Amino acid sequence: MITDVTQVFGSNVFNDAVMRQRLPKNIYRQFKYNIEDRRPLEAALADVIANAMKDWAVEKGATHFCHWFQPMTGLTAEKHDAFIAPTADGRTIMEFSGKELTRGEPDASSFPSGGLRATFEARGYTAWDCTSPVFVKADGTNTTLYIPCAFCSYTGEALDKKTPLLRSMDALDRQAIRVLHALKETSVRHVTGTLGPEQEYFLVDHRFFETRLDLVLTGRTLFGAASPRGQELEDHYFGALHERVASFMSEVNTELWKLGVSAKTQHNEVAPAQYEIAPVFESVNVATDNNQLTMETLRKVALRHGFACLLHEKPFKGVNGSGKHNNWSLVTDTGRNLLDPGDTPHDNMVFLVFLCAVVRAVDKYARLLRASVANAGNEHRLGANEAPPAIVSIFLGDQLNDIFEQLAAGGAKSSRKGGELKLGVSTLPPLPKDCTDRNRTSPFAFTGNKFEFRMVGSTQSTSGPTFVLNTIVADILSEIADELEQAKETPKTVQKILQRIANEHKRIVFNGDNYCSDWIAEAQRRGLPNMVSTAEALLVIMDPAHVSLFERHGVLSPSELHARTEILFEAYIKAIQIEARTMIRMARRQILPAAISYAGQVASSINAVKSAGSAACIMEKNLKEIDRLLDHLGAATEKLEEALKQIESIQMASDQACHCRDVIIPIMTTLREAADALEMIVDAQVWPLPTYSEMLFLR
Ligand code: ADP
Ligand code: MG
Repeated sequence: MITDVTQVFGSNVFNDAVMRQRLPKNIYRQFKYNIEDRRPLEAALADVIANAMKDWAVEKGATHFCHWFQPMTGLTAEKHDAFIAPTADGRTIMEFSGKELTRGEPDASSFPSGGLRATFEARGYTAWDCTSPVFVKADGTNTTLYIPCAFCSYTGEALDKKTPLLRSMDALDRQAIRVLHALKETSVRHVTGTLGPEQEYFLVDHRFFETRLDLVLTGRTLFGAASPRGQELEDHYFGALHERVASFMSEVNTELWKLGVSAKTQHNEVAPAQYEIAPVFESVNVATDNNQLTMETLRKVALRHGFACLLHEKPFKGVNGSGKHNNWSLVTDTGRNLLDPGDTPHDNMVFLVFLCAVVRAVDKYARLLRASVANAGNEHRLGANEAPPAIVSIFLGDQLNDIFEQLAAGGAKSSRKGGELKLGVSTLPPLPKDCTDRNRTSPFAFTGNKFEFRMVGSTQSTSGPTFVLNTIVADILSEIADELEQAKETPKTVQKILQRIANEHKRIVFNGDNYCSDWIAEAQRRGLPNMVSTAEALLVIMDPAHVSLFERHGVLSPSELHARTEILFEAYIKAIQIEARTMIRMARRQILPAAISYAGQVASSINAVKSAGSAACIMEKNLKEIDRLLDHLGAATEKLEEALKQIESIQMASDQACHCRDVIIPIMTTLREAADALEMIVDAQVWPLPTYSEMLFLR
């Protein structure tokens, strides 16, 4: 239990306060200038900083340092090196140079590269990203200094999630500044994207988790009949925390606070056994690093409390899946949130320009945005009857929608006000009412002073969707800047631009219920893409318009984008293959044997009952049904084995992905149906797997 959060918070981070205290004044100042001006670090400076870092880390018990990076697996990677430097007289001293701080050289050959290099071309480099703070983390008795890094190949091509994110931040900064300066906001020098990702997850008791091969190997249940009770009572969302869960959350918070991750909000989510954690927002880069630490900490601390934390997008069929709500905005170095409408948004020109830029970006690049959240797990959420649909649309809310319509008609003259809410109870004060309601069903919702991109999957790195968002908005800002820089009368040109955007992109604005089936037809009429499958979504990434977009803004070269697409396809195919193989293994080694043995028991009971002179009608009916389902199960298992073999003869990754979607997944569905039906009639004593009721309701 912690006593003083203010003491604990950031205690393991080499943050600004520590630097000011530990670095010589001139070095500290120079380092700050470097970061502000976004210039690379000089060697002499790096040596001094490295030494101070090492002393600080060693005092905290660290024996090692590691370059901590984010390869294309979507997870983090780390290779530890001890600080030790043996001396001639047989002892050792602790050493850490600027070179070791700023550059590492891990073998790159065992990380996904999408063909950017051959396996024998092993060299890869990590480079310190000094905009994300260094920290000390203890795992068991091992304590290490972590250095957040970018990761690239020998030829300088990005092999990680961080590099394009950093590049997209630069692109966004460049274009936003051009627009602001054209709007005469010349005191602003930099603009940064901000991100606050809400993270959803499930907790199941570890004793259940460890007996389910599907959860252990794939993160989701591949079999399991629905529990008689699911989420229909709507009693879990925001419910009182279970004591064991509350203790878990408390420890997660403490661990995260030590690492300077500002875990702030926690609550029960909609599905039973589902929860959420959200931090205070940060720059998109730091927020992405922190979200990785959050996912890791959730998993780690869960084990200490006898839980398994499931981050998968759809661990359980029939109840809600998990997402990550990426709250995103833009902030200037003068502290202004560019998406803050203020009290009178209709005459807030800067706000309207940035708002309209986002609207145009999201409509123009809706397919790319959809592709940025495409993976095997998210396929179960998007377009299935829950969470946001696969159709990208924007919720603006009453007030902004009204302004948007005024803009389309030629200019905004007024803003609707929120007013007061009277509760009809004399002791309760009137509440100030927001000018806009919320919409929980929208994939891309304006929520007061930021956009919330809700399609992101719970396992995903926030980097991909964020660098796409940064880049598409940068692209539209650059168009707007081109026009404004030529303008004779800025306000008139602004009005013209806003009117044009409001008219051209009306179709992307949808304030209604996104779960409703009418919306699918309506979206089709509006010409909005609806890409339900991952294969379909990934196929659009290499569209010439997207290739040139990323190249134009220096975010990804065509070969880097191509490699990334290959990696995403491969990850999808591999995930489906692992699931299919796991299903076969469980069907053959657990479910079939259990059902067969139960069938045997029933058969001998029938014989016994019949020889005693009774009819055994129900028993015979039962046996027939088991036999029928066993046939289905057996046939589907064989078909699945066959379908898995076929994949080897398919050349292109995209065709393999289509084979997964069109052939393998439907067979998996049939196999599951047979197994789940068996679960409903086989003796609970012989059923080999923990049930949905147990996993979702027992704490
Ligand atoms: P809700 O569940 O109502 O959407 P939460 O409080 O759970 O809200 O999460 C909101 C998230 O949005 C938090 O992580 C918060 O820090 C983040 N956020 C707030 N303002 C901004 C902003 N300007 N830029 C990015 N994220 C923001
Ligand atoms: Mg939210």
